[in-house]
Amino acid sequence: NRVLVVDAGGRGNAIAHAFARSGSVERVYVAPGNAGSEMMDKCRLAAIEGKVPRSISELLAFVKKERIDLTFVGPEGYLSEGIVDIFQEDGQRILGPKREAAVLENSKCQTKDLLKKLRVPVPPCQNFSDPQEAKEYVQQRCSEEPGRGLVVKADGLAAGKGSIVCATPEEAASAIERIMVSPRLFGEAGDRIEIEDRLEGRELMFFALSDGHTVQAMQSALDYKQAFSPDESVAIRLFNKLAGNPNQDNNPNTGGMGGFSPHPWLDEELTERIMKKIALPTVRGFKESSGQEYRGVIYFGLMISEDREPAVLEINVRLGDPEAEVILPRLQTDFYQLSMAVMDGRLDELPLQWSDDFCLGICAISGRAIKPLSSTGPERPGYPGEHYTNMPINGLERVDPEVIVYHNGTAWGTDSAGNRRLYTTGGRVFTLVARGKSLAEARAKAYENIKRVRFNGMRYRKDIGLRYI
Ligand code: ATP
Repeated sequence: NRVLVVDAGGRGNAIAHAFARSGSVERVYVAPGNAGSEMMDKCRLAAIEGKVPRSISELLAFVKKERIDLTFVGPEGYLSEGIVDIFQEDGQRILGPKREAAVLENSKCQTKDLLKKLRVPVPPCQNFSDPQEAKEYVQQRCSEEPGRGLVVKADGLAAGKGSIVCATPEEAASAIERIMVSPRLFGEAGDRIEIEDRLEGRELMFFALSDGHTVQAMQSALDYKQAFSPDESVAIRLFNKLAGNPNQDNNPNTGGMGGFSPHPWLDEELTERIMKKIALPTVRGFKESSGQEYRGVIYFGLMISEDREPAVLEINVRLGDPEAEVILPRLQTDFYQLSMAVMDGRLDELPLQWSDDFCLGICAISGRAIKPLSSTGPERPGYPGEHYTNMPINGLERVDPEVIVYHNGTAWGTDSAGNRRLYTTGGRVFTLVARGKSLAEARAKAYENIKRVRFNGMRYRKDIGLRYI
């Protein structure tokens, strides 16, 4: 069988790798992909007439030409654009939620309304399209309980940055103003907002797989969102200074700096509770309210209270990056057979099996680099701020063969001596994943190996997994 994975990052590498391990898969294509997409056995970059297919119509043309048996979609953008609906109308087999289901991710207001109706636990919240009414709600909510924190969220997609956590009513009023009136931080995504109570507790990312009726819990990962470890105050200050915010000393959020799986405190009892109170009612309620079955991965961003009660902060309709890179290598069930079971509504026949090993992943990012000769302008702070790209990467060949390097932002190029080399193309460059019988073993192996790789400006967090050993 032939599979197409639609994704550009390390998550796409990890999904392709999972398919390539299946005995029933002969070839895995990846589009748009990156240089890492070709480094695994059976995996190739997709191309049609020498060009990488990117738009939905180009991808559909590729699938027909190469007689692809199954397409798997990673990123949310394609799902919101309705890639699943369009492929299915054409009779192609594709795994992922349809456009209507993607609303669960791309409208926070609609999702919270649905969850409230289904009695799925969420923080107390309300939607607004009028800034004045929103500010009155803030006043009212905070006068009911002085000291209450609130979170102001743009309704639509804002690349994971659309939520502003506020400690005081003044901060919340300012967030409303900046999102809805001026400078309209997230554009149209902020035409409507949701204001919810700020909850205390521990955050947990929970992934499940659904065929529309059956829902199975997937393993979770503990991820590291902030760019620096808490003890790097000097680096944090320098980052903020170079990013043009000299008076700030907050540790910036990123798409993810690494993580590990299994999650240290997601045990069977908590998994069952989340399945019963959140995952099952959401998938079933979605079907009842929309008439559509939810097929694919569903992610719940949760806050777990002190007495272990979960509440939903947000839903995503896909696997996360870098979570996929540390979760999928532990999957023992054949990923192709599993995908087919999801599409045919037979997920109950195929229980998910996981290895007991630990996987730990470290993201190497484009940090503060020595300025290239060709560059003008001020020094750049590095990811998640402005950063340089097109830096040659050295030493990947010195990584142990059993250690996996999933590429996030790389491409092949030619140096001045005419040699073919790998270059950086983005903020997150690669995620190096090692496994071990214990977290300590996986961690030691990952850090030992990442030291062998270098590029100008390369940086990574030194504390992934450290607290949990
Ligand atoms: P992302 O996609 O990166 O997770 P997002 O913009 O879609 O972000 P949320 O996940 O809803 O928004 O919120 C981002 C972060 O803000 C959460 O991970 C959490 O740390 C914090 N947060 C959101 N809602 C609440 C809440 N009600 N109480 C406490 N913290 C919250």
